[in-house]
Amino acid sequence: MSRQAFLNRAQETLRTLGSEGLIKPERVIVSPQGAEVEVSIDGTVRRVLNFSANNYLGLANDPRVVEASLEATRRGGAGVGSVRFICGTLGIHKELEAAIADYVGAEAAILFPACFDANGGIFEALLGEEDAIVSDTLNHASIIDGVRLSKAKRYRYAQGDMDDLERQLAAARAANARTIMIATDGVFSMDGYLAKVDEIAALADRFGALIMMDDCHATGIIGPQGRGAAADFGLASRVDVLSGTFGKALGGGMGGFVAGARPTVDLLRQKARPYLFSNALAPGVCGAALAAIHIARGVEGDALRALLFANARRFPVVPNGRARIRIQVSAAHTEAQVDTAIEALRQARAAHT
Ligand SMILES: *Cc1c(COP(=O)(O)O)cnc(C)c1O
Repeated sequence: MSRQAFLNRAQETLRTLGSEGLIKPERVIVSPQGAEVEVSIDGTVRRVLNFSANNYLGLANDPRVVEASLEATRRGGAGVGSVRFICGTLGIHKELEAAIADYVGAEAAILFPACFDANGGIFEALLGEEDAIVSDTLNHASIIDGVRLSKAKRYRYAQGDMDDLERQLAAARAANARTIMIATDGVFSMDGYLAKVDEIAALADRFGALIMMDDCHATGIIGPQGRGAAADFGLASRVDVLSGTFGKALGGGMGGFVAGARPTVDLLRQKARPYLFSNALAPGVCGAALAAIHIARGVEGDALRALLFANARRFPVVPNGRARIRIQVSAAHTEAQVDTAIEALRQARAAHT
């Protein structure tokens, strides 16, 4: 009977979500990811414009990235069926760790199944109850979960509010925290705000704090050669723990990483639970990421970023706190496609006002 009661409760929760308009349906795409995709709607396939993917540089279906993934699969097989430290480390894992560390300007890097797992592992592994984390309130869900898993004391500051950050750092200092770690997204996804890296770094210096930055929405896009949000300020070396993903600009496949000083990365290799107890990345995933990094850091990457920013300039962002439609442009969108989307938004507004 309690099993039936559980299922009834699940149905009830779903009904409530439905009545609040909070159900997230999954559209079935029957083509590769791109500026245009084919979706199956009630059994018919329609070609539609896509302004919703994190495929910022349009590399998800780039033939070179796809071929690199296939080639890595041919060489290394579908997967290793092991965590890294038992019998799951391939040459291509070490190659990708070296490539991403070099790209973001860090001494070393370690791969994770996803950036969600990277952020889930960082705080618990690196900090203890004598330490403190000072976290931006609008940080990604994975940072919030990661902070929860750690025994460190928690302080939160209002999104991008440097006065509040200063107050929370002072509070952590006053509580005699051994190590204080500031945690921030590099680019905040909802409004596209860039973290105030220069001010955060100045405060970190004043209070002797470390900086953890999640650069998922910046790696491959922001800063010289797309090296990230801190690199945009010339402060890449000031970030102590940098996490990121291969699931967005860098090919849209999957996989996360943490880059930093060698002792930090070495400690994560020994202590980070999502690294220790989850399967190693498949060779095909690594091959695609390597090819995407190669494109992103070269002159072609500069051209793709120029296209991306030209497209992004055509979509104004509404003031913070206001309801919003999130539109994600990529370098793969043509001007005509952006025109079509703007016209569709105009028509939708006209139909609803
Ligand atoms: C997308 C995203 C993640 C999750 O990355 P995955 O590799 O898909 O798990 C984490 N943090 C931020 C800020 C993100 O935008």
